[in-house]
Amino acid sequence: MAVSESPFRRDARHPNLVLTRHPLLRHKVTLLRRADTPKKIFKELVDEIAMLLAYEVTADLVTETVEVRTPLEETEGEIVVGERLTLVPVLRAGLGMVEGVLQLIPTMRVGHIGLQRDHDTLEPIDYYFKIPPDPEGSLFIVTDPMLATGGSASAAVTFLKRSGAREIRLMCIVAAPEGVARMERDHPDVPVYAAAFDRQLNEKGYILPGLGDAGDRLFGT
Ligand code: URA
Repeated sequence: MAVSESPFRRDARHPNLVLTRHPLLRHKVTLLRRADTPKKIFKELVDEIAMLLAYEVTADLVTETVEVRTPLEETEGEIVVGERLTLVPVLRAGLGMVEGVLQLIPTMRVGHIGLQRDHDTLEPIDYYFKIPPDPEGSLFIVTDPMLATGGSASAAVTFLKRSGAREIRLMCIVAAPEGVARMERDHPDVPVYAAAFDRQLNEKGYILPGLGDAGDRLFGT
C-alpha cells in the first residue's frame, strides 16, 4: 500500500493557500473531475467534499466549556457556537456546497452573494447581498467551488468586508494559480482552503485540468 503524503500542504509560493490533501478528498475530487460522472453523483460528491473541507476550515475554532451530565456523572464538555459562523455561498455554484457544510454544522447561519459585471465599467456589482446581522462577531466561510481568475471571490470578500465582516475564509474545491494569486494580492488576510490546486486557466477562463463548469454540472444547465 502506498504511503500517503501529509494531509495538509502549504505552498511556499502561496502563503494564503491551505491545500487539504486528505486521501478521501483526493479520491472524491478525482471522481468529480470525470466527464462521465452523472449529475446526481456529482452533487453528492460536492456535498461530501464540502463537508470534509468544512472540517479543515473550522479546525481551529474556539470552543466554549459547558457542564454535561452523562448517564454516570457530571463532567465538563466543549461546544462550538454555531451561531457565530456564517456560510456565504457565491451564487450560483457556491450554493452546491451549502448542504454538505450544514450537515456538519447545522446551526450555521447562511448569507448569499450574487455578483455580476457592470456592462459599462466591467466592475463586479452585487445584484444580491444578504448576510445575518452583527457581522463583526462572526467567522464567515465563503464558498465558491472553482477559484479561477479569483474575480468573483475577491469581490465577494470585498463586499463582505464593506458590510463589517472581519474574519473571512474562502473554501473552494479546485483552485487555479491565477485565482490564488489574485486573492493573495487583494485579501492577504483571507486564507484559501482548497482540495486541489490545478495547473492553469485556459483562454476562456476554465481551470485546467479542472472539472468543467461546476454550476452547469451541479444544476444540469
Ligand atoms: N468556473 C467553473 O465552473 N469552472 C471553471 O473551470 C472555471 C470557473
